[in-house]
Formats: sequence, C-alpha cells, structure tokens
Amino acid sequence: MQDTPAPSLFPLFLDLRGRRVLVVGGGDVAARKVTALLDAHAEVAVVTPALDASLAPLVRTQRIHHLDTTFAPHQLDDAWLVVAATDDPTVNRAVAEAAAARRLWVNVVDDAELASAHLPARVQRGPLQIAISSGGSAPMLARHLREQLEAQFDESLATLAQLFVGLRSRLRARLPNLSNRRAYFRRALDGRVQALLRRGDTPAAQTLLEAELEQHTGTPRGRVSLVGAGPGDPGLLTLRALRVLNEADVILHDRLVSTDVLALARRDAQRIEVGKRVGGNHDATQQRIHALMIEHARAGKHVVRLKGGDPFVFGRGGEELEALRAQSIDYDVVPGITAAVACAAHAGIPLTHRAHAQSLRILTAQAKAGDAEHDWAALAQPGQTRVFYMGVSGLVRLRERLLAHGLPATTPAALVENGSLPQQRVIAATLADLPELARDHAIQAPALMIIGEVAALSTRLHWFGSLPITPASARCRNDDLARAA
Ligand code: SAH
Repeated sequence: MQDTPAPSLFPLFLDLRGRRVLVVGGGDVAARKVTALLDAHAEVAVVTPALDASLAPLVRTQRIHHLDTTFAPHQLDDAWLVVAATDDPTVNRAVAEAAAARRLWVNVVDDAELASAHLPARVQRGPLQIAISSGGSAPMLARHLREQLEAQFDESLATLAQLFVGLRSRLRARLPNLSNRRAYFRRALDGRVQALLRRGDTPAAQTLLEAELEQHTGTPRGRVSLVGAGPGDPGLLTLRALRVLNEADVILHDRLVSTDVLALARRDAQRIEVGKRVGGNHDATQQRIHALMIEHARAGKHVVRLKGGDPFVFGRGGEELEALRAQSIDYDVVPGITAAVACAAHAGIPLTHRAHAQSLRILTAQAKAGDAEHDWAALAQPGQTRVFYMGVSGLVRLRERLLAHGLPATTPAALVENGSLPQQRVIAATLADLPELARDHAIQAPALMIIGEVAALSTRLHWFGSLPITPASARCRNDDLARAA
C-alpha cells in the first residue's frame, strides 16, 4: 500500500469563547479534549449515552451540556467545531461526514485521514502558545519536539506576556511606528527583564520595561546589515546572521541565497531579489541595489543585504558600504562561510596541509574585462592551494594559462558543484583532464575549482553526498554505456 503524503496544514488559532463545540464520545479521550476546550472558554456539548466519571461533575455543575443519546447530524446545527472522540470508527466517520456536509471543521481523534482539523501538540506559557504539528505523519516527532521546547522555555514567559498585555496601549501610543516598537522589544528583551522574572521579581521587571519605554523615543534610524548567508545549507548560517534576519524589515537578497535560508527570516519582512543574472548588466544591477538600500534605510527600515557565502569575498560588499557611507547610513557586517571553506569541507579537501600546502590563494576566474589577470608564474609555484571562484565557463583557458607557466599537468584538481547542498557533485581529477570531465558531466555554476596537491585527498577523505567523480569512475561509466549500446 502506498502511504499518502502528509497534507500541508494551515495553522490557525481559534477564539472559542462562548462558541459551541460538539464533542461526540464520553470516554477518557473525550474528557481530555473537553478539558482543553473549557480552558479556551468554549461552550462544550458532549454527545454520549455513557458518560466518563471525570465528566459527570462537569455536567452537574453545568460547565458542559450533556446530550444523553447517540450522534445525529442535527446536533451539529449550532456548533462551530466538532470533535469525534468515540472508540467506534463507524461513528467517528459518520460524524466526520456530517460535519463535512455542513462545512464544519472536524477533529477526529486518532484519525488524521478523516479529520479536517488537527489538534497540535502544544507548549503553553500564559497567553503565549507554541503549536506543533507533523500533519499526522509523525505525532511522536511532534511530541518529542514539544518536550524539548518545554525544557527550553520556562514559566517566566507567561508573566512576560502578561506584562506586555498591560503595556499594550501605552506602547502603541508612545511608539506608533512599527519598526520603532520592534526596536523597543529588541532592547526590552535583551535578557535583563527575563532574568528578573526568573528570580520571581515581577515588580522590578515591570519597572524596567516601563523605564525602557520612557527612554525609547524618536523615529527609528534606518540601517543596513550586510550579511553573509553561507553556501546555502541553513545549518551553516551564523547565529548572528539568524538574529539579524529575524530583525529585518527589508531583505535584499542575491539569487544564490537558498530558499531554506530565506525561510528562516522574519515572516513579514519584505523580500526583494536583486540577483545578477548571467549576461545581465551587472553595473546597472549594482546601482539598483545601492538605490534600494539607501531608499529603505532612509525610510527608517532595517535593511538586510543578504549575500551568498561571505559579503567580502567576491561579493561587492566593499562597494555597497562605500555607497552607504557616502549617504551617512549606519551599517554593520555579518561574515558568512565563504564557498571555498564550505566546498573544501564538504568535499574532504583540507585547504592547507602540513605536507602539501602552506598557503592558500582565493582567486576569481572572472575580472572586470574578460579573463582575470593574475600573477600566473607565482600561481604555478608548488606548495600552495589555489581556489578559483566563478570559473566553470573558463576551465580550458585556466588550464592553458597554468600549464603555460609551468604547473605540471598531473597537479591534482577538483571541482565542487553546489558545495554543501544535497545535490553536491565533486570531480576529482588532474589539471590535465578536469575541463573535459566537467564538460562530460555538464557541471554548472555555482562551482568552485581547487587546484593543488590537497585536491587529491578528496577521493580518500570525502564524507558528504555522492562519491567524487574521477577519470577512472568516468571511464567505467563510459564502458558500461558502450556495453549497453
Ligand atoms: N560571496 C560568495 C561568492 C560569490 S561569487 C562567497 O563568499 O562564497 C559566486 C561564486 O561562488 C560561484 O561562481 C562559485 O564559484 C562560488 N560558489 C558560491 N556558492 C557555491 C556553492 N554552493 N558551491 C560551489 N561554488 C559556490
């Protein structure tokens, strides 16, 4: 039997105060749902001919209505939500179908397929709630996560949330501007308030929050954070980058920045792709980036200029800071893991090695006008590792140059495509045969070339993704193809 994939659910928090919810079933599972619904101040009606002992007092004290009968569709008439919690699958199905016919949301206990509404695992701290769902695919996993979160967030959050409720109208009056309020929260939540709450000193925490509010004035000053997003795997983002992404009002990102990384950013931050395209007018794009940064920062926004890898390694970060400086706009820089470092790690190629390489050169295969002009003779010297960015289209010319200046054709060379990403491919060859192997395997940007003795270590030290492609493995594949033909 083929398992159907888990549905992609839409999370939603319901205000059930005074609204009728029908619970069909009267056992202990139903009783648990009833308790949760009463906590949300719902008006609960329970349909069951056999009432659980724990529910009886609730009926007596009129906290719930008891319909002492079996389920019938008309009982749904004034309900907003239905929970089918009997141990009889036929009854649960009948409830689900009747609810669907009336376009009512129905939760069916222990039957994700029948349910149109799922009850999440949740962590609650006063008015603050975290709901977790696996769409019915792995409830144990959701529960496991819940336990972790329970441990991570202590009870002081409940008091904190209550304090903010008390401050809400004053906060809005004093700081009508949203980014201003956000800045206030950032300051107010820097840890001191929570430390006081953990000690149980709520009055001191409240005084501190209020004092911060009195001090916090003026329109916000916009600024720009130049942030390195690393090579694409969100695990390789720095903690600071993550924090800044969650503070951003506007995110100007390159095309190379992965969707997984963008998904970690503040949900309501405005995202603008400003990537340079192959063959596009790069200078015009760069001017547009400068203009956008300046425009949004002037409007008081916190702009995050998000770049693949590190912003100061072939990222034109310097030019962007110059443009900001000229306009007296505040900025900061968050470094990222550059492609050379990420690709080397994920291909099992140490960039330096006591036996093979005492220096490392980071180079571009492109330059302002056509091919990069490097000191080729120096690059042909032994004992170093050369890393070329942006080189896929110029591999043959790169080889020519290096050979012409005396680098042996047998020098190990590796090409890492989509380094650190699940689809990573590594070609491990020599300077002589790398370009043709790359062509045969249709290697495309983004890819990084590593030339030097260390490149040979990939075939032994690789640990991530598929095995490196070598001239020998390529020959085997060709032989197989020939035999199959
Ligand atoms: N600022 C970036 C580099 C931008 S230039 C950094 O620090 O990494 C773009 C070049 O980076 C690409 O042409 C490619 O050579 C390299 N690159 C970026 N991400 C890569 C990846 N995941 N795998 C291989 N190369 C990558």
